[in-house]
Amino acid sequence: MQKQTENIIELRHITKTYEDGFTAVSDFNLEVKKGEFVTFLGPSGCGKTTTLRMIAGFDLPTEGEILLNGKDITSLPPYERPINTVFQRYALFPHMNIYDNIAFGLRQKKMKEEEIARKVKKVLDLVDLEGFENRSVATLSGGQQQRIAIARALVNEPQILLLDEPLGALDLKMRKEMQLELKQMHDDLGITFIYVTHDQEEALTMSDRIVVMSEGKMQQLGTPEDIYNEPKNAFVADFIGESNIFNGIMTGHLRARFCGGEFTCVDDVEEGTHITAVVRPEDVELTAPEKGIIRGTVTAVIFKGMHYEITIESGRNEMVARSVHAARPGDQVGICLEPDSIHIMIAEDHTNYFTADINEKHRLEFNGHELDTSVTKIIKGSKRQDDGTIIDTNGEVIDPRRTRIVISIQPQDITMTDHVEEGLVEGYISNLIYKGDHYSYVIHTDLEQDFIVDDEYLWNMDDHVGLIMPIDKMSFALKK
Ligand code: ATP
Repeated sequence: MQKQTENIIELRHITKTYEDGFTAVSDFNLEVKKGEFVTFLGPSGCGKTTTLRMIAGFDLPTEGEILLNGKDITSLPPYERPINTVFQRYALFPHMNIYDNIAFGLRQKKMKEEEIARKVKKVLDLVDLEGFENRSVATLSGGQQQRIAIARALVNEPQILLLDEPLGALDLKMRKEMQLELKQMHDDLGITFIYVTHDQEEALTMSDRIVVMSEGKMQQLGTPEDIYNEPKNAFVADFIGESNIFNGIMTGHLRARFCGGEFTCVDDVEEGTHITAVVRPEDVELTAPEKGIIRGTVTAVIFKGMHYEITIESGRNEMVARSVHAARPGDQVGICLEPDSIHIMIAEDHTNYFTADINEKHRLEFNGHELDTSVTKIIKGSKRQDDGTIIDTNGEVIDPRRTRIVISIQPQDITMTDHVEEGLVEGYISNLIYKGDHYSYVIHTDLEQDFIVDDEYLWNMDDHVGLIMPIDKMSFALKK
């Protein structure tokens, strides 16, 4: 028997760019061990299916390689890979009975009928549908049809089973049941499962390891516990479970300031560092107002069956708490946080950078717009000479054809408008994260880069917006 620690599949620097130029997966690296249950988790369009299709061989990567048991299979056709896929749509043949549906692939391979019968029986037992051989597809429930689809994949005895949102079409109760059954099947079979879902609870329940993806990139790889308790960035914290996310700063040794209060934490981050603090609602402790580190007013209470979800407004910030005790809107409360319930991440630098050209009038140009400033205004000490050329402080001529200007602007200095034409840049909102007193948005543009914008107002995903960037909020640097 091969060791559990061996990699069955390795993805090395995989990139997939479609013919229209869109990059769905970018520099993706992953090693999956034999017998593991690995889940790709992320919002719609993040590249999960594309990655799975490359493993199956339905799509070829534009860059990188895929190894199976150490051998390069990057361009091996799907039918030569010991890999089978179960899709969300069951894709059963409606005119065939269950037996024939499962036997189909084996008959194509010209296997003897007795052997086929033995294998069909074995997989039907495995998916808990013994005796269903002669039933027609139409008489099965959604859950049973999906089990047949799984049986049909398993009958080929693959080394790896790929599952692309296999429970997506089932109702909640059936989905929960099937999650446990799939997990049991995985444990019994001992083969490798690679699973795709956008449902974080499903991923946390079933997986040995989870790959969190966003916009074609891996955001974090880890066990369900790692991902839930130690999210690597604000995207992961926001996507996995409910989170309160705040910008803040370290004010001393194990002391952090955020959400209008100063809290003791367990992460040793240098004083003065800008941070993102994550607090799960179940870790927010509500107290009498005078006992809290911060105080606030209850603005909403929702009963959730096992607990209440309570929203508290504190100054400009909002915090969500989960409590078994009810509260009423308008109640004054205190908020305490245990040090180990605060997860501190060093803040990512969200400065937006973009590069402008210098036109023949020595003015800056970006994205077809002339900016209301010129080279002499932004580069200290530069002067226009009598012959019209511009020199820098060293007396060197700034050649507009060879010089570009890198502009930087902070997320909070950009304003979004739905009068798209008024913006210097336009794009669509592709991600948003609530940060307690504002939202942080990613604006996906047709240019080389996306922009990050902070705004206190709630916009919707996919809103088409223009970005207004005031000249006096921009910083400039010369790039020769
Ligand atoms: P979902 O959960 O919605 O299936 P996903 O994470 O599986 O999402 P993919 O299906 O991998 O996402 O798609 C990733 C991105 O690639 C999407 O923006 C999609 O529109 C794009 N895409 C997929 N196939 C093609 C194609 N043939 N040509 C161009 N773009 C494509």
